Amino acid sequence: MTFKELNLDREITSAVSKAGYEEPTPIQEKAIPVILKGHDLIACAQTGTGKTAAFALPVLSMLKDKKPRRIRALIITPTRELAIQIFDNFKKYGRYLKLRAVCIYGGAKQGPQIDALLSGGDILIATPGRLLDFMGSGYINLSQVETFVLDEADRMLDMGFIGDVRKIVKFMPQQRQTLMFSATMPKEIELLAQELLTDPVTIKVAPPASPAETVDQKLCFVNRADKNALLIRFLQSGEVRRAIVFTRTKYGADKLVRALLKAQIPAAAIHGDKTQGQRQNALERFKSGQYNVLVATDVASRGIDVPKLSHVFNYELPDEPESYIHRIGRAGRAGENGISISFCCSEELEKLRDIEKMLKKEIPLLETEYSAPLVRMPAARTASAKFSGHSARGGHSGRAARTDQARRDSRTGRSDRTGRSSRAGYTGRAGRTASGEHTRRTRHAKSRMYSSATSGGGFT
Ligand code: ADP
Ligand code: MG
Repeated sequence: MTFKELNLDREITSAVSKAGYEEPTPIQEKAIPVILKGHDLIACAQTGTGKTAAFALPVLSMLKDKKPRRIRALIITPTRELAIQIFDNFKKYGRYLKLRAVCIYGGAKQGPQIDALLSGGDILIATPGRLLDFMGSGYINLSQVETFVLDEADRMLDMGFIGDVRKIVKFMPQQRQTLMFSATMPKEIELLAQELLTDPVTIKVAPPASPAETVDQKLCFVNRADKNALLIRFLQSGEVRRAIVFTRTKYGADKLVRALLKAQIPAAAIHGDKTQGQRQNALERFKSGQYNVLVATDVASRGIDVPKLSHVFNYELPDEPESYIHRIGRAGRAGENGISISFCCSEELEKLRDIEKMLKKEIPLLETEYSAPLVRMPAARTASAKFSGHSARGGHSGRAARTDQARRDSRTGRSDRTGRSSRAGYTGRAGRTASGEHTRRTRHAKSRMYSSATSGGGFT
């Protein structure tokens, strides 16, 4: 399938070739015809699958011959980086058209954005907060909107913007086309879709191979005090061409950049406290290769489109296991293998356990000169207390097997109670509600497994 076969105008297919795209991605191939027919659409596809062009190309195509300079397409997206990226894409794909896109987002001066609005645009790309501000001041009229695109709907939800979206929608004509793009479809997003969309076509594309499979993941046990030295050692090894280093906090990001600069490693931080200009500048300089290390927090890094990275470092493990996948997905994009190296100190063992539980495997250990003698937490805490007395007796292989067994047990224990949220309960519940059941089963299973190795008993 080619872009021409998708019935896009010549101006658009030329711009797409100029962008270097040879053929549409699966989501583009499926979504573009549906959008051109005027249907509402729910498109579910992961990051990096080409969703922007999937809506931008047909939107440009639909608007190109109509009366210009009023907002006829509105794209809402959760972060300023994404807004700017979408804006850049519209400019790129619309280079041979006379349409004009305007982009507004928070954290930047209002003046230039107001000027851009006042000189008129056909396509408005906005983050929800700034859009509402400007609507409140009367700079924006949404009564002519024909196509409304809700980009990254699930992140919008995570970031608490759904209320804003509902407010904004009230100012658009009911008679419009609505397109919703999301990587996942949580219940709340389905409900929102029911509210905002009319007879939508739903498209899902198979997720590309998970970064959990394509990225070469490593784990370093290290004392917190040695993390800087270890990171610097890696960065100076010559193997790291281009890396993002994730920290948990903004403060931690700034502090780390100072330490890297002191070690003569050019680096910059991007996080939510930086002004838009600073973030953009840091990103540009990173993209252009002026420096090869970007220190980022999770929120600031979401959705940013940076070139392929040889390495992702988790200087600190994320609070949310899902963030681990987002983070390592920055390494080795588009089929190239990248490397992720995660630092874990004793205070982070619990987070590691949650991440490995999600991955359903252990991240291979990488020994370094700073290796700290830490041991992974077994999957369930009750089991951990019991196991500890025996780890000396059981051999090395025994421990891994027992951890496995504990996992299996706690999973079984969990499935006994239905309909409860899975996360909170993982450690606590086995201990509290089901402890009797759990202990009996565990003990039974273990004595079966280890009776020969541990000369029977031993688990009372
Ligand atoms: P998503 O919104 O799904 O995360 P993007 O729209 O940001 O994905 O696209 C991800 C990357 O893929 C961008 O760098 C974009 O330029 C590139 N891209 C999009 N469509 C194509 C295509 N048809 N061929 C090659 N590259 C593409
Ligand atoms: Mg996107």
